[in-house]
Amino acid sequence: MLGLDLTDKLVVAVGGGPVSTGRVGDLVARGARVRVISPQLSAGLHELVDAGRLDWVARPYAGPPDLLDAWLVHTATGDGAVDGAVAADATTYRIWCINASAADEGTARTPARASVPTPDGPVEVAVTASGDPRRAGAVRRQIEASLSRGDMDLRRRRARPGTGWVALVGGGPGAEGLLTLRGRQLLACADVVVVDRLAPRGVLAQLPEDVRVVDVGKDVGFHAVPQERINQILVDEALAGHGVVRLKGGDPYVLGRGGEERLACEAAAVPVEVVAGVTSAISVPAAAGIPVTHRGLARSFTVVTGHDQVPSLPTGADHTLVVLMGVARLRDTVAAMIAAGRSADCPAAVVERGLLPGQRTTVAKLGELADRAAEVGARSPAVVVIGSVVTMAPEWSRQASSLSSTVSSPSPLSSNPGSAPPLSAPAPPEDR
Ligand code: SAH
Repeated sequence: MLGLDLTDKLVVAVGGGPVSTGRVGDLVARGARVRVISPQLSAGLHELVDAGRLDWVARPYAGPPDLLDAWLVHTATGDGAVDGAVAADATTYRIWCINASAADEGTARTPARASVPTPDGPVEVAVTASGDPRRAGAVRRQIEASLSRGDMDLRRRRARPGTGWVALVGGGPGAEGLLTLRGRQLLACADVVVVDRLAPRGVLAQLPEDVRVVDVGKDVGFHAVPQERINQILVDEALAGHGVVRLKGGDPYVLGRGGEERLACEAAAVPVEVVAGVTSAISVPAAAGIPVTHRGLARSFTVVTGHDQVPSLPTGADHTLVVLMGVARLRDTVAAMIAAGRSADCPAAVVERGLLPGQRTTVAKLGELADRAAEVGARSPAVVVIGSVVTMAPEWSRQASSLSSTVSSPSPLSSNPGSAPPLSAPAPPEDR
C-alpha cells in the first residue's frame, strides 16, 4: 500500500452523489485540488463549490480530455458502465483510479482510515481487507477506539531538541474513569509525566516502563515543589525535545495554577495544550449526592479556597459555597461565613477523598460543622459544601437524627489521634 501526498495535486472526481461527497470532502481537507464532473451535485459538494474550494464541471463525463492533468481519478457515478469507462480511460492514460462501483478492481483503493491527533501531528492507520470494505471498516473502528482510549504507545521515535511540547492535563478527582480520553491520548504520547499528588496516579502504572515520571506531589506537612520549579521542569523538558504531560488533579484552571504553567510555556515558546478535567469542586459534592445547583434549592455556586474571600460572598442558603483546600482552616472559614451573615443553621458537608477508596461524607449545620469535622478527624483532601443543596445528600437524612447531638459513634480515624491534627492547631499546608 502507498501513501500519496495529494497537496495541490489535481484530482478529478466523476459523479456528485453521496459517495463522492464523502471522498471529495476528504480530498479537499487534505489539500488536493479537486474538479468534480457531474450534472448534479449534492448539497455538501455545493457548499464546497460556493466556498471556492472545489471546481465544478456541470455535465456528464465526456471522455479522456476530462482527465487531463489529473494525478488521481475517483469515479462514483452510480452507473457501473460509466464508472468502468472512466476507469478504463484512466488506465489508458496511466492515471491511478478509484472505482466506487468495483472497489476491488480499481487501480487505487481507499483504505478505511483511523486517525488520532497528537502534538507531533496526526498518527494514521489505514486498513484494507481483501476487497471487503465493511470488514475493513469494522477493524478500523476497533483500532480507532483503541487509539482514542490511549491504549497504544504513540510516542515519537524521532525526537529532536526544540520539538518538545507540554500538555496540561486535568486528571479529575483521582478516579481513573474520570480522566478524559484526550488526557489518555496525550499520556500515550508522553516521554515525561509530571504528576501531582491528587492526580489519578493509577494510570502511571499503565505507562510504558521507560516513560519518566517526575513526582511533584505534595504531602500534607512536607515542603512542596515550588510552582516556579515546576514551571521550570516543564519548560526544560520540552526544550530538551520531550513530550511532557503535566498530570494535574481536577481541572488545570480551577485553583490548580494551570494558567501560570501555560504562561511559563508560552514565554519559552513551548507549544502547550490544556485539557480540561473534571473538577473536584463539582464532582466530589456530586459523589456525595450533592448537586451544586438544584431547582428550588440553589441557582448558583461559588468556589473558594478559604476564609479570606468569605466576606464578599452571597450569604443565602440558595447560593452554594464550595470550599477547596479548606479543611485545615475550616473553623476560621465557618466563623467568617457566619460573621458575614450566613445562617448557622445552613446545611453543610465535608466530603473527604471523593470518588476514591474511603470516601466519607460528614454533614452538620454550619455552626456545628467544625466540631463535627474535628470529631471524625476529617482530613485533606476534602471538599466543603455549604447550602441547602446539602440536604440532597443521602448522608443528610441518615445523619439528621444526630445532627444537633454530639458524635454518634467514634470513627476509625478519630480513634487514632496521631492521624489528624486538631483543627484548631496552626494550619498545615493543604493539598493541592
Ligand atoms: N484543580 C483541582 C483543585 C486543586 S486544589 C480541581 O479542579 O479539582 C486541591 C483541593 O481539591 C484539595 O485540597 C481538595 O479540597 C480538593 N480535592 C481534589 N481532589 C479531591 C478528592 N478526590 N476528594 C476531595 N477533595 C478533593
